[in-house]
Amino acid sequence: MIRKEYSKDLSAMNTFGMKVSCSLYMDYDAPEDLPGIDFQSLPAPVLHMGGGSNLLFTGDFPGTVLHSSIRYIKELSRTDDSCFIEAGAGIVFDDFVRWTCGKGLWGAENLSLIPGEVGASAVQNIGAYGAEVKDIIDRVLCFDTVDKEFKVLSGSDCEYGYRDSAFKGKWKGRFIITGVIFKLSVVPWARLGYGNLASMLPADTSTLSPSDVREAVIALRHSKLPDPSETGSAGSFFKNPVVSAGRFAKIEKVVRDEQGPDATVPHYLQDDGIKVPAAWMIDRCALKGISVGGAALYERQPLVIVNRSGNASPEDILALERLVIEKVKEKFGVELHPEVEHIKS
Ligand SMILES: Cc1cc2nc3c(=O)[nH]c(=O)nc-3n(C[C@H](O)[C@H](O)[C@H](O)COP(=O)(O)OP(=O)(O)OC[C@H]3O[C@@H](n4cnc5c(N)ncnc54)[C@H](O)[C@@H]3O)c2cc1C
Repeated sequence: MIRKEYSKDLSAMNTFGMKVSCSLYMDYDAPEDLPGIDFQSLPAPVLHMGGGSNLLFTGDFPGTVLHSSIRYIKELSRTDDSCFIEAGAGIVFDDFVRWTCGKGLWGAENLSLIPGEVGASAVQNIGAYGAEVKDIIDRVLCFDTVDKEFKVLSGSDCEYGYRDSAFKGKWKGRFIITGVIFKLSVVPWARLGYGNLASMLPADTSTLSPSDVREAVIALRHSKLPDPSETGSAGSFFKNPVVSAGRFAKIEKVVRDEQGPDATVPHYLQDDGIKVPAAWMIDRCALKGISVGGAALYERQPLVIVNRSGNASPEDILALERLVIEKVKEKFGVELHPEVEHIKS
């Protein structure tokens, strides 16, 4: 069944809390609803939305917002070491994680409490605490709006990268994800090497359960990130830049000129360069906590722009975004790029 609403208020449907609307909103219950939709006749453009937790609406949306209410979780099969679980695209991702942890299955626990829905998790390749959802995606179930047929894509078809996939690039807007098949581990697979996750758990990990790891991740996230039900945000606003060795040397020089020859720059070697935490760069520009209108950088994590007043306008957020990009560029010669998707009005 499809429910349609014209001039729908989206304020409560985007975690930034932007007070915007769309021309037409269509919420559907089942994959079988999709082939009957005449996409050409809908107010354009068409945006498929999940929980609205990675979107910045820059004003009222002139087109159609589609949303999936396909909600089920089921076990498909199991071997001695793996278990295949299928989840509908409209399931809240954290409900899926709670479900798998409750069954003693490993693989999703480090991704606890990431806002949003299962469908979008496969678009975004969500990640946290050293895990990415691509590690547990086996297949993605889709409706192809071009060929007008259902397709099953393998994880490798989706060309996953850091918070990236073919759904955000060459397939943008083409596939509607209806469900995801995850491959979880029946045998213990604790990944505790990232940040201070291990310090939150007992030294003897032999009796650890996925739910123990989930609780530790939730406690860490509560201490660092704003709760979307209290403070509007879209999580990390900027991507961590990957720079060349030459640029990295220049960043080191800037810091050493300021702080002395022993000063270091946090970094992680990647196949394509050197990743430098954007939060660290923003901090070094003395921008922590800065505000523009109702928008501000979150005090505990400068990578996050928050709707501090609850009434921040898209212009406030965009002005703060520009300010951060400009200051970081001025100081380090590095251009930050937003992770949050800007939806044009
Ligand atoms: C407080 C906070 C903390 C966060 N922490 C993290 C984190 O730790 N790690 C991380 O990776 N992200 C994090 N995020 C970002 C966000 O949670 C993820 O990007 C999430 O996957 C977005 O899911 P969503 O359902 O809200 O999707 P939306 O924001 O609604 O959409 C995201 C994209 O997916 C597309 N899409 C949605 N559903 C479908 C579908 N069924 N078919 C096809 N395309 C679809 C949309 O068109 C859009 O391009 C955080 C956000 C917040 C607010």
